[in-house]
Amino acid sequence: MKTIGVLTSGGDSPGMNAAIRAVVRSGIYNGCKIIGIKQGYHGLIKGFIEEMNLSSVADIIHRGGTTLQTARSEEFLTEEGRQKAIYAINIFGIDGLVVIGGDGSYKGAQKLNELGVPTIGIPGTIDNDLRYTEYTIGFDTAVNTVLDAIGRIRDTSASHGRANIIEVMGRHCGDIALYAGLAGGAESIIVPEIEFNIDQVCSKLIQGRNRGKLHSIILLAEGVGGAMDISEEIEKKTGIETRVTILGHIQRGGSPTAFDRILASKMGARAVELLLEGKSNRALGVKGLEIIDVDFTDVFKQEESFDTRTYELANILSI
Ligand code: ATP
Repeated sequence: MKTIGVLTSGGDSPGMNAAIRAVVRSGIYNGCKIIGIKQGYHGLIKGFIEEMNLSSVADIIHRGGTTLQTARSEEFLTEEGRQKAIYAINIFGIDGLVVIGGDGSYKGAQKLNELGVPTIGIPGTIDNDLRYTEYTIGFDTAVNTVLDAIGRIRDTSASHGRANIIEVMGRHCGDIALYAGLAGGAESIIVPEIEFNIDQVCSKLIQGRNRGKLHSIILLAEGVGGAMDISEEIEKKTGIETRVTILGHIQRGGSPTAFDRILASKMGARAVELLLEGKSNRALGVKGLEIIDVDFTDVFKQEESFDTRTYELANILSI
């Protein structure tokens, strides 16, 4: 293994730059040539490819986004598109590829592996929706961004005696809502994985109000949807003025937390190690304090699961 390619794909997440840096620096340390591919699989097909050196990744560990840029590629979904990608891989002499992205990007990496290109995946997504790993890169930063927003919204909520529904990202996964809700002391957390009861949400609000609470925060995962309808129903049932804040893309940006930078650095270096060991078709993850690697086939077999114990804890602590 002499030449390693690296790309970021799908939605960006804070910490992707730290992962790129780790691939580049640990690759060069181990005597490899590192090739950066811009704009994910789209850039691979189009040949947006250049060699990286130590300076290419200077001053990026603290930056959000991805300096390699990211994209979604319809063309790569076709056999013809993937053949173009293989052509570029051969032209640039890439012996192995590190793909930083979510499950879609992993499926692409698996396809390349089937076509003879050794690939390793690094989980870069704020959603934390890959069940084989406890954390994905960017999730911790996103949770902290939501926490910051909760603090600000709570201030103004208290002044006006309002309830606030804060809709957070995560697509079909409720982890951002759950962790930010627990850390931020939200009264209720509504996630797609668990059926919710509007009357329970309302009775918590009323109990809080009766105890003299001036503010109420409800964390709503985007996968549930219907923030405005829920808000109207709460107002109707409780008489408490209720506002909706949709945090949106601010959750995808910002400087990564120390946790995400460290996770990304460890995974980037491990990806290079795995390729040098002749391993392929594997995705990196974290279990406890250990960096693990799992076959892509097992990644896609993992069933949906949700941390119900933490959800119950959040419920208990918000009575
Ligand atoms: P995020 O979780 O942030 O959305 P993602 O990696 O899941 O990230 P996708 O848009 O699903 O994002 O996938 C990124 C790219 O990976 C796609 O644009 C496509 O080029 C490629 N890809 C996705 N699914 C497949 C597949 N089944 N086969 C081949 N390539 C795929």
